[in-house]
Amino acid sequence: MKINVKRIPPAGERLTGVEAGWIMELDTPDTQFLHEIAYDLLAQVQGLTLLVTGTLRTTATLRCSRCLKMFEQLLVVREFVVHRQLHGEDFADLTADIREDILLELPQRALCGAQCKGLCPDCGQDLNEARCGCRPRADAGRWAVLDQLKLKR
Ligand SMILES: [Zn+2]
Ligand SMILES: [Zn+2]
Repeated sequence: MKINVKRIPPAGERLTGVEAGWIMELDTPDTQFLHEIAYDLLAQVQGLTLLVTGTLRTTATLRCSRCLKMFEQLLVVREFVVHRQLHGEDFADLTADIREDILLELPQRALCGAQCKGLCPDCGQDLNEARCGCRPRADAGRWAVLDQLKLKR
């Protein structure tokens, strides 16, 4: 996203609009930006400094780390700030700044919902949709049996 620095009036200029999701340059099987990025910014030039502040908002398509389904998550950058020295150029490109701040909003572990039950570790059934016939994970049970053996000795 390029802004015309020379056209910014002394009081600043409000910039609103959308950028295509592909400016994120990120399209993996687990993280996609298929929706537009909406921006609402105030650009100001103070002496030789460009100051841009405002908010960014987009919806990312992520893969849930528990059930492996794709889901959509709203990402909002509430305090987008760019502070840049100007060297007489006409345009300032904010694309890299936008990209960086939106990436910081991505969750470390994507979850379609806090209540997601995930997949059965044994048969792969999506436990959000239906239960499977597998017994609960055997580990706890095995230890319980060992404990009982010890007690009997
Ligand atoms: Zn899930
Ligand atoms: Zn199962």
